[in-house]
This record gives sequence, C-alpha cells and structure tokens, in this order.
Amino acid sequence: MTVAIYPGTFDPITNGHLDIVQRAARLFDRIIIGVYEKSNKHLVFSTKERVELAKRAVANIPNVEVKSFHGLTVDFARNEKAQVMIRGLRMNADFEKEFEMAMMNRKLAPDLDLLCLMASQEYQFLSSSLLKEVARLDGNINDLVPEYVAEALKRKVNDTI
Ligand code: ADP
Repeated sequence: MTVAIYPGTFDPITNGHLDIVQRAARLFDRIIIGVYEKSNKHLVFSTKERVELAKRAVANIPNVEVKSFHGLTVDFARNEKAQVMIRGLRMNADFEKEFEMAMMNRKLAPDLDLLCLMASQEYQFLSSSLLKEVARLDGNINDLVPEYVAEALKRKVNDTI
C-alpha cells in the first residue's frame, strides 16, 4: 500500500491545492493532507477551521483524509507510515524553497521521497495569501476556492474589519 502525505498550511485550502490532491489521489492508495498546526505565516483560520474546510473539500475523494500535525513534517510522515511527500510547484514561486526543504528533509529522513506535482495553468498564480488579500478588498474569489471556503473567508474578513 502506497501512502503519501501532502503537508501545508492550507489557510484556507484553494482549488490549486485541490487540483494537486486530485492528481495525487490517482497515483497513491492513500493520501493524508497534513495541516501544520503552527506556521510562521500570519494565519486567518484556526487549525480546526483549516482541517474542517479541507475535510469538506475532499469528502468526495475516498482515499484522501485530513489530519493536523505539529513538529517535523518527516516525523508526521513516519507516524503515518508514508513513503512519499507531495508538494505542489508553481512556476516561479516555489522551486528554490522546495529544493532547500527537500535537501534538509532527505538528511532527516533518507527513506522518504518527495514528489512535486506541477500546478495547473489556471492556478499558477493562486496562493492562499493573495486570495486573502483579494477577499479583504472584497474581490471575486469564486473560481478560486469551493463555495463554502469563499463564504468562510468573507465572514472572517468581515469579522476582522
Ligand atoms: P506551505 O506553508 O507549506 O507553503 P501552503 O498551504 O501554502 O503551505 O501550500 C501547500 C502546498 O501546496 C505547497 O507545496 C504549495 O507549493 C502548494 N500550492 C499552493 N498553492 C498552489 C497552487 N495554486 N497550485 C498548486 N500547488 C499549490
């Protein structure tokens, strides 16, 4: 049985993330989305909220589940008995950061392999941080996230104004 983790902040989950998950779910028996409990990013949603939004987004994909984790990603992978870590790559933004992290992770866990899937063209420039900025400015985010994510984000943004 091949198990892969897909770790990230997911604040909130976007169609770009979902595109990666859907493709990874065809490659592996089981995918576990790992939501970082703590992140050095400025978070809008709590861990519980990020997990719930992600769970709802993947409810129709039978071999995908969502868990939160803290500590090293390689330890999360080990605990879940995953052989592979999935990450998504956008054209300019991600490569150097992923490469650096992959080299460190390989040192920590040489038996864990990294698989980077290329973001689809329509989501190349979609990031959770840009999404939050557009939502704050009351822009239309409907094509970029599932409907309930857009609603949750609008509620959050209105609450914090
Ligand atoms: P992190 O804080 O680990 O970067 P993110 O939630 O921002 O977490 O992203 C999780 C993973 O999904 C990362 O590998 C990131 O590059 C990837 N990702 C983010 N946005 C997109 C997108 N629009 N298309 C494809 N992959 C994406």
